[in-house]
Amino acid sequence: MSPSRKLYGKHKGPYRQRSVKKRIEALFLDNLGKVLTREQIIKAATDPDSGRQPENWHQRLSELRTDEGYTILSWRNRGELKVQEYLMPDKRKRRGAGKRVRPTDATWTAVLERAGYACEWNEAGIVCGLEEGENDPVGGGRVKLTPDHKNPHSLNPDADPKTPEQWQALCGRHQVTKKNYWDSTTGKLNTYAIVQFAPEPEKREVFHFLLSYFGYTTLNDGSIRKGKK
Ligand SMILES: [Zn+2]
Repeated sequence: MSPSRKLYGKHKGPYRQRSVKKRIEALFLDNLGKVLTREQIIKAATDPDSGRQPENWHQRLSELRTDEGYTILSWRNRGELKVQEYLMPDKRKRRGAGKRVRPTDATWTAVLERAGYACEWNEAGIVCGLEEGENDPVGGGRVKLTPDHKNPHSLNPDADPKTPEQWQALCGRHQVTKKNYWDSTTGKLNTYAIVQFAPEPEKREVFHFLLSYFGYTTLNDGSIRKGKK
């Protein structure tokens, strides 16, 4: 898809589905292979009766990926998409998406108390720490903590709903981050997704690592040549 052939979708509503997620899903299914903008998604997500704009539309969009198994591309996946543009290439769903084992209520309460009712995501020693109900300054919307099994289910299929140590509390954004990074069917790191979601300086570092790994040399004018200078 070259930028000149980028096709924008149309709002074909009214979308009267009962939930924000269902209304966003209907908009995407009406526009397969076409680019949808943030404004179009918010318009479709808006409550048809009260006219209220949902603040959590982005979270619901993420759930279409993680829980329903749809592919929804963004600027992170496709260079020609701008920030705040999204595209569902087709209506296929990944199998097995959304299957969940949950901790018992008592276990979940123990996890929340240990976590101090804050997200436990830990990246290189820095804990997220966003608290339940707080505004997420990065992802937007209000923080809702949900349980995450620390090990992928395939590595530990007997996830114990009664063992708090096996669970952690994560905010919505970090649930999505983890699901994107781990392929829960193989238990392997999803290297490709990690690179996709990395900031540009890190992407560049990986790019140069791969060039050198595969025996390419970058010349002073920025061009690339196989072999040494
Ligand atoms: Zn978090």
